[in-house]
Amino acid sequence: MNILEKALEKALRSEGITPGEAREFAALPDSALCDILSVTDRVRRHHRGMEVNLCSIVNAKSGLCREDCSFCAQSAQYSTGAPAYPMDSAAALIGAAENAALNGAREFSIVTSGTRVEKEGDVAVLEAALAAMKERVGVERCASLGILRRGVLMRLKDAGLQSYHHNLETSRSFFPNICTTHAYGEDVEAVRTAKSLGLFVCSGGIFGLGETWDDRIELASTLDGLGVDSVPVNFLNPRPGTPLEHGSNLTPVECLKIIALLRLMLPAKDIVVCGGRGVNLRDLQPLIFAAGANGMMIGNYLTTPGRDAKDDLQMIKDLGLRPRGL
Ligand code: SF4
Repeated sequence: MNILEKALEKALRSEGITPGEAREFAALPDSALCDILSVTDRVRRHHRGMEVNLCSIVNAKSGLCREDCSFCAQSAQYSTGAPAYPMDSAAALIGAAENAALNGAREFSIVTSGTRVEKEGDVAVLEAALAAMKERVGVERCASLGILRRGVLMRLKDAGLQSYHHNLETSRSFFPNICTTHAYGEDVEAVRTAKSLGLFVCSGGIFGLGETWDDRIELASTLDGLGVDSVPVNFLNPRPGTPLEHGSNLTPVECLKIIALLRLMLPAKDIVVCGGRGVNLRDLQPLIFAAGANGMMIGNYLTTPGRDAKDDLQMIKDLGLRPRGL
């Protein structure tokens, strides 16, 4: 039995491939793409059906971050020209959520730069925005606010937060190459805290940082071990002024293989393609679903524009898929 046959058999009984099998998968040549997609499409349909999760974000507090993540335009350590502003008002966040719902998003996430949100005034704004969204906006309420302290996360959950997003970004082994200002273990702990509070947890990473396939496999194993519910997948879009500004984009086929790897290692989870989709996948964007993704971000990313939400909705319809409702 070859690796794809083995992966399909395991995935259909909700079992992911092992790291050893994943290395065998990673070694498949680009010419095997159609064979890979025929398997991952079947696995996605088996576990996640024909519905696509659409999520949207607002950059609620931008720039001025004291961390040094080498891919990020929001670090204060680099001159990137990215917008820098303090926490938006609750009214602005609610307006952004309403707009996301109009664009067809099912999940809406409030995202802030920085290690964590901890100022009382900022937490109070988030509580007010979440409570109002719960009352009058038809979206699932998510937030990405860094390595949040448990007490703050509990307050936000009480106000209406349903999901928490915190990416591990890459493998523990490769992490020191992309961030030196905090430890990987702190990110893992943030994910554990959110899980322990019963929140739906989205945690994934960014690919194209110079990591190897072994790093990608290690990251997927860590996410599996943490029991995350959804895996956001970002591809590097090199930002001027960051240490990775001269990084080259991945090929579209490599991006599709990364999505496929995640689907085969975490067969029953949500896999959501987020930042860097357009510049890395170009005309192969519609193939993300055959590769195993069952969700994508629509609208703008944190510091770069996304394509028109209408084009994404049309793409989904043309593929015979449909946005997942609430
Ligand atoms: S990824 Fe987050 S923590 Fe890292 S520099 Fe950017 S805003 Fe700061």
